[in-house]
Amino acid sequence: MPKTKYVFVTGGVTSSLGKGIISASLANLLQARGLKTTIQKFDPYINVDPGTLNPYEHGECFVTDDGAETDLDLGHYERFLNVRTSQANNVTTGRIYQTVIRKERRGEFLGKTVQVIPHITNEIKERMQLLGSSGEYDVVITEIGGTVGDIESLPYIEAVRQLRWELGRENCIVIHLTLVPYLSAAAELKTKPTQHSVKTLMESGINADVLVCRTEHELSDDIRNKLALFCNVKREAVIQSIDAETIYDVPLLMLEEGLDSVVLNLLALPDNIKPDLENWKAFLTRLKNPKQHIRIGLVGKYVELQDSYKSILEAFIHAGAANEVKVEVVSVHSEDLTPENCAENLKGLHGLLVAPGFGSRGIEGKISAIRYVRENNIPFFGICLGMQMAVIEFARNVVGIKDANSIEMEAQTLNPVISLMDEQKEVENKGGTMRLGAWDCALSPGSRAQKIYQKDAISERHRHRYELNNTYLEQLNSHGLKATGVNPETGLAEIVEIDSHPWFIGVQYHPEYKSTVLTPHPLFLAFVQACSQYAKTNN
Ligand code: GLN
Repeated sequence: MPKTKYVFVTGGVTSSLGKGIISASLANLLQARGLKTTIQKFDPYINVDPGTLNPYEHGECFVTDDGAETDLDLGHYERFLNVRTSQANNVTTGRIYQTVIRKERRGEFLGKTVQVIPHITNEIKERMQLLGSSGEYDVVITEIGGTVGDIESLPYIEAVRQLRWELGRENCIVIHLTLVPYLSAAAELKTKPTQHSVKTLMESGINADVLVCRTEHELSDDIRNKLALFCNVKREAVIQSIDAETIYDVPLLMLEEGLDSVVLNLLALPDNIKPDLENWKAFLTRLKNPKQHIRIGLVGKYVELQDSYKSILEAFIHAGAANEVKVEVVSVHSEDLTPENCAENLKGLHGLLVAPGFGSRGIEGKISAIRYVRENNIPFFGICLGMQMAVIEFARNVVGIKDANSIEMEAQTLNPVISLMDEQKEVENKGGTMRLGAWDCALSPGSRAQKIYQKDAISERHRHRYELNNTYLEQLNSHGLKATGVNPETGLAEIVEIDSHPWFIGVQYHPEYKSTVLTPHPLFLAFVQACSQYAKTNN
């Protein structure tokens, strides 16, 4: 078993350059050459995890099988690699300090003064090598969040500097991602910001081995030579990352640029196996040659921010490509919807997804939208809060329980069709205390869900505190809303569906987290298919 090799990805010049996509694309290419590869992300903020962060702050919170609330880049890692990540793949400064302070309280530092170097950096280094030390991986790629030069990134950069000495340059390399901006007034690409960024990294004792340059225009030979000369990297290690039509093009663009070969050579790994990207290319061909165009409404309260529903949007891309359908996701702000304007606001949509969420803002709009699509036989898919709202809508408008509500929205409601889970009643802390991660679910024979999954038992990821109140199950059931997926141990309803509707499914869990390029999620596949059918018959 060869020793695990480490690749660190740092960013400079600006944030949002797409370190996650570059890391995932490189991992994808290495994996396509048969190397077992994983990716982890170290985030320099003080929150212990992003679970307590508002989507406006940090986009979607991605949940792993083992119940970790993580950065949305882990979603990209799973979607690109088709492998599962875990708590170990995402570490924050908050978690590092929490661990070190706990050790200090236990007296583990034997009376020493606890300091950033070596105690914090040791903890960082240990975690950087945790997945590698399992012996499961040939290559571990570590993305360092933030931008070099930030005060809060310094301990991470220092840890990487130390690791390079300890592991040796052939086992540990650094890729630096920067921006090469185009100045239209001068009609020129500018290398200076990259030079400065590389210099900042050098001040911390790290010489980048590879430069990946984000750019809107092709880098000329002159620019590449100049970057190599001023930034101390080999000419072939100056990699252009030009804006792509889709993030899923990036692995192929990186292959063209030779990023994988450069990395393999630096790590003294053989470069003779051709990457097998047949399935990936087949996906791209389907993605780019749709035979139909459909419009699906996404109702939520964070719709103005694309990153808030990242995994849902990506799941539609995977399922759309598999169905050879271009899915246009139309954002619908839940606060804008009323019973009177749904017909107008939802006109021209071939399906509706009501998104996950927290708190009461916009929920009456969601309920109005659900009523509209239920009554008009438009395909409906409710996820988590979307499922809970579907239950409330059905209880109010079909069963006739006019004041049905969720305890989350109205603590004193007399008809809590959505109630707090028992295990949540004693919970005081907000962070990491929801029902999280993978739980089993048994599917009712003959149900739509069972036909879609073609299985009797599934496991899906959760992130919620409230649940369908089983006291109302019989009433809902007798009026046509059935719980067709149930947790076998607790009896919690995980899926509801309406038989008499062409496609009406609500799920308490988050199927979007498990959709990947090579294995689109069955519910998204079936939903897109139903919307496509609706579009064919209703256009
Ligand atoms: N707010 C709801 C709950 O906690 C739904 C959560 C969600 O949509 N992720 O149960």
